Order: sequence, then structure tokens, then C-alpha cells
Amino acid sequence: MSFIKNAAEAVKRDVAEITSKMKKLGKEEEEMSANLVGHLAERIPNLSPEMADPDNAVDDLLDSTFASRYTSTPMSKTTMPLHGAPAHVVYQLITDVRKLDATPALNLASFVTTWMEPEAEKLIHESLAVNYVDTVEYPSSTEIHNRCVTMLAKLWHSPSVPDEGPVDAVGTGCIGSSEAIMLGALSLKKKWEAKRKAEGKEATKPNLVMGAQVHVCWQKFCRYFDVEERYVPAEVGRYVATPELIRDLCDENTIGVAVVFGSTYNGEFEDVEGIDKVLSELNAKHDWGLSIHIDGASGAFVAPFLYPDLKWDFRLDNVASINASGHKYGLVYPGLGWIIWRDATHLPEAMVFWEAYLGTMERSITLNFSKPATNIIAQYYVFLRLGYSGYRKIMMNLDIIRKRLVNALSRTGHFEILSKDIGVPLVAFRLKTVTGSDGKEHHRLYDEFALSDRLRMRGWVLPAYSMPDNAGDVKLMRVTIREDFSIGMADMLVADIEDALKWLDTHFTFSREDINKIAQAQLGRRLSRFDSSILARPPQDDDKQVVRPC
Ligand SMILES: *Cc1c(COP(=O)(O)O)cnc(C)c1O
Repeated sequence: MSFIKNAAEAVKRDVAEITSKMKKLGKEEEEMSANLVGHLAERIPNLSPEMADPDNAVDDLLDSTFASRYTSTPMSKTTMPLHGAPAHVVYQLITDVRKLDATPALNLASFVTTWMEPEAEKLIHESLAVNYVDTVEYPSSTEIHNRCVTMLAKLWHSPSVPDEGPVDAVGTGCIGSSEAIMLGALSLKKKWEAKRKAEGKEATKPNLVMGAQVHVCWQKFCRYFDVEERYVPAEVGRYVATPELIRDLCDENTIGVAVVFGSTYNGEFEDVEGIDKVLSELNAKHDWGLSIHIDGASGAFVAPFLYPDLKWDFRLDNVASINASGHKYGLVYPGLGWIIWRDATHLPEAMVFWEAYLGTMERSITLNFSKPATNIIAQYYVFLRLGYSGYRKIMMNLDIIRKRLVNALSRTGHFEILSKDIGVPLVAFRLKTVTGSDGKEHHRLYDEFALSDRLRMRGWVLPAYSMPDNAGDVKLMRVTIREDFSIGMADMLVADIEDALKWLDTHFTFSREDINKIAQAQLGRRLSRFDSSILARPPQDDDKQVVRPC
């Protein structure tokens, strides 16, 4: 009996011991979690009561970037943090976020300048704090702006800059061609309204005639300012508007015609001389007062140097205004656009705000008020640095590289070239069909979008697009050739395109099983060994990606 009693005592003791140990453990756990919470609170600067602790502040100063607590706490994304962080850490964190971006020099999608000389960058840095609009405080910016406007007006043959006699170039710098286009199109609208009212006619149904390949900012203008959009449709093989098709769309309510001088799709110029002639005929017949705005976002900085004899500018009677992007072939970093009017009579007075400037009055014709002076100063730098001959040499180099790329891509046998020999220096192309072992032409199992994706792996940004409306089945890729795209780069690009195609040819295939599934769905039967038609994959609904060029 005593043996049993002893054993029971022992068990009781053990249980008591275990219970007390467990209690202790529980306490420790509680403590630990309390510590952890404190620790975390300390690491989240927003919540930390320790922030005021001078030791922490010293740590902040002494810690190397990645030893600091800021790199192990999530970055604020939605709420402004209560407290700031050291400059070197914030700089690093933001730089890290930006690392996922493409390399600008490899971004063949964009026309926008990705390289400028160090002296230009120095001027930009030195004028970063200058607000262009403060003309009294920073009169040199206005002076430089006006010099640029006059140079451009002269380059585009405005009658307001005669060889002799007073000069009154009318134009303005903008944040880009889009703002310039809003202003140009608004002046067409206002002129049309004034004419209609003066004739005692209704002025409530304005329309604008343009090719379907226009940049999206034209659509924006029409929607923002209540103008009917009238598009000359594109079709397979014709990707610009023609004079005759434009004639068909004009009527008494047409405020003007937008001529795309350098399509963003394939760089092609519209026949400005032909369109000008058609408008002269219509005006003579109906007195509609139709005029042209030239969207020369890229072309207006190319044609004067590469095709000086091509008539597209104020040499043509009906051209009322021209825009260009200083940040495209004007060779300045983004955001700079220009608009020049033929002369003061083509800019409705209702759009002009006169401002006092150093004893004279200056026209102010912008949508925005404040803006940086940096790019206007940089544009003047490029004008002086290059001169006409410098721009011409650069444009000729771009054209040499364009031709080499066209030849190299054609030689691969894989591509049809969709850009023209005369136009903006770019190469637009699409995949050819392939001849199957049956001797017939077949689509590939991959398209331009897949090739674009594959090239992204090498760092190239070479986008694929679909042509507008009726030509929407045509997919294409576009390489814009910019100043910093040398022949060495072009050769590397072609080599990478060839590698990408080899890869796609071997990997982007369907298994026999896949093919049979498709055949079942489309033909209602399995595929026979002799039935190769399925290799010509018919277009699918989701093939129709609409991606606009920029
Ligand atoms: C780029 C472009 C625009 C828009 O110009 P931003 O300078 O980017 O505002 C408009 N039209 C054409 C033809 C373009 O190429």
C-alpha cells in the first residue's frame, strides 16, 4: 500500500512541477511577444514612441543605408509617413524602385530624346528652379524662347520672318506637341466660329477632318472641346489619308484639316502639297476658309534637314499652324513642344493674353501657367551648338542607320517593311508568313507581340502595335531611330531579333495534342497526318490587341 501511496505522491509532484514550468513558459512567451511588439513598433517609424530618442537619431545618421531600420520596414505607399528618413536612404529606396524600368537608350518605342551633351545638362541643372512664366524675374528665358520661336518660324518658312523688314514670329513653347496641338486646333475652331457668325450662320456643329492614324491627342482635342471627329479610314496597304479622301469628308462645318506629318505608326508623311491643293479648290468653290494644321511632332524637325525641297510647311498657302516636339527630333529631353502660326492673322485674338515684359507687351498663348524654363534653354543650346548643318548631319546619320536596318531585316527573310524611304527615321515591319512543306503560305504560331516579349528579355523595348481601324488585322513593330542609336546598336538588335526568332520557332510550337484540340474545335475532327492546314492558325478574337504607338 505504501508503495502505491509513494508512487501517487511522486506523480502529484511531477504534475505540479510540470504545471509550474508550463506557467513559466507561458509567461516567457507573453514577455517575448510583448518584446517583439515593442521591437516591431520601434521598426515602424510612424508608430514608434522611440523616435524622439536621441540615440535613434544618432543611429539614423551613422547607419549605412542597408543597416538602417528604414530598409527593413515597408516603404510608405499610400500615406505620407509621419516622420522623414535620411536623404541617402530615401535616395537609395527610390532608385531601387526605378530599377525595374527599361533602359531609356534601349527603348526603341519612343521618339523622345534620351541623350544630351553634358554642357546641355549643365544648363538644365543650373536653371532647374526657374519658372518660365516669371518673365519679369527671369527675362532671359523669355528672350531665349522668343529667339527659338523666330528660328523655327524661319526654318518653316513663315512669312512673318521676312529676309528684310520687321519680324513678328508668332508661336510658343509648350509642354509637348499635345499642348501645341490643342492650341493649333483651338485656333482653327475659333476662326471657323468667327467666320460662321460673321456670315450669320449657325456655328454649333464643328468637325475636324484627319487620317485615322492621328495621334491620340487629336481625339482628346475633339472630345475636350466638343468637335466631331471625322476620320479618313486606313486600310491594308494604305496607312495615311489621301487628298481625295480628305476632300470627301470636308463640308461647311469643317474647322480645318489635321495633316499628320510623320505617322506614329510607320513614319509616313501625308501628301501635304496634294491636300493643300484640294483645300484651295474647295475654298475657291465654297468659300469655306479651310486651312491646315500640320502635326509635325516628329517630321517638322526632320524634313527641313533631310528633305529641304519637300513642300509641307508655310510655303503652302493653306498651312495655318505647325507643331513639333522639341523633345523628339528637336533633340531636347522631355517636355518641350512648339507651335508656330503662319502669322499673327492666323492666331485668333481671343486666344492671346498680352503680358507686360520689360517695357514691351508679350503674347502669352499657353494652356498651362507655370512651367520649367529648362528645356527652352536646352533647345536654344542645341540650335546654337548644332546649327543647320549639325542637325542635317545627325538626320543623315539616322537615315544611314535606318537603311542599314531595313536591309538587315529584309535579308533575314522574316519581315515585310512597312515604313517608307521618305519619312521619319524609323523602321516599321511585320512578320511574313512562312512557306510550309506543302508549298503553301502559313501564319506563324507566334506574332509580333510574342517577338516583342522575347526581345524584352535582352533589354530591348521594341513594341508591337495594331494598325488603326480597317487595317486593324495588320500587326507591326517599330524601331524609332534616335541620335543615340548607333550602327553598332542596330547590328546588335538585328542579331538579337534573329536569335529571338530561332527561339520562338523551336519553343513557341503546339504539341500534336494541342493541334488536335484546335482541329477538333475548328474543323470538328482530328487532324490527319496529311492535313497541314491547321498550321495556318486562323486569327483568334484575342489576337486583336489594340495598342497605340506613342
Ligand atoms: C508624339 C506625337 C504627338 C504627341 O506629342 P507629345 O510631344 O508627346 O505631346 C502628336 N502627334 C504625333 C504625330 C506624334 O508623333
